[in-house]
Amino acid sequence: MSTRFGAVFGATLAFALLALFSCSTLSLILQIVATKGAEVTVETGYIYVLTMVGGLVSALVIAQLSVTKPGAAPGVGGFQPESTFGIYATNSVVAVYLFVWIFTGLAALIVGVMLYPNANKTISDLGTTWLGLAVSAAYAYFGIKPGGGAAVPEAATVQPIASIGQQLQQQIDQGKITFDIGKPELKDELLGTNNGTKVTSKLQSLVLELSKLSPVSIRISELLRPSGDSHHVAGRAVDIGNEEIANSLLPLVATDAKVTQLGIDEIIFDAAVAGDADRNKWNYDVGLKHSYDGAALDDHKTHIHFAAAA
Ligand SMILES: [Zn+2]
Repeated sequence: MSTRFGAVFGATLAFALLALFSCSTLSLILQIVATKGAEVTVETGYIYVLTMVGGLVSALVIAQLSVTKPGAAPGVGGFQPESTFGIYATNSVVAVYLFVWIFTGLAALIVGVMLYPNANKTISDLGTTWLGLAVSAAYAYFGIKPGGGAAVPEAATVQPIASIGQQLQQQIDQGKITFDIGKPELKDELLGTNNGTKVTSKLQSLVLELSKLSPVSIRISELLRPSGDSHHVAGRAVDIGNEEIANSLLPLVATDAKVTQLGIDEIIFDAAVAGDADRNKWNYDVGLKHSYDGAALDDHKTHIHFAAAA
């Protein structure tokens, strides 16, 4: 593939994604404005495309700005135009791309965050995320670090790192993390937006990793518990209520290497439920293989219990 063909193909693909992202976002924003902030709901497929493509478009913009020499006009990565016309064409493509991204994100910020924050969660999240990315992009473009002082331009690699809460929200939006029906408080507990005791950030990371590892979605049935003798009280434990996934999930998690890597303290599940003769097949305590007694196993037939290290 010639460099020129590659550049044209890449630009077309980038424009198609940009159009998909901005059209779906703007149509949603127009609906919110038309209903003057009444709650607007859309299909999960719509949200999936919007968050997926939105993330990619933003990452492209950040990558673009962070490899650009501070103060210089952005160009297309890896493509060196040979003619004056080529330089103009490349710069125009990038300029249009950046302006559409700015316009769409700004609209989401103004409508979804500043004017009607309760109308549609996807648009509010998009506006907030866009602001964060725009600020990082501006820092990258001017070659300064948020803490002050000039960054070394060659080493400036600003990545759009989503917070743990944003990553969990994304898994929830994509249906990879679900919750027991009738327990709406679980979502707030997982995201740390509840009142009172909160789950630890280590537990949040553990749940995120479990949701990524699991071939099917995980369904949380319990997080915080007000009292008692378990790690649930300290916000370190989670119960997975769809225990039928044990045979596909636990072999990927219940190994010494993975338990160490994920910072797992406890795994408690009666493997007899999954048809295994060894009831303690996958169990761990303080990060080591452990055999729980009959009473403990009897309590863990309907859910898989995980605790994160303190
Ligand atoms: Zn538990």
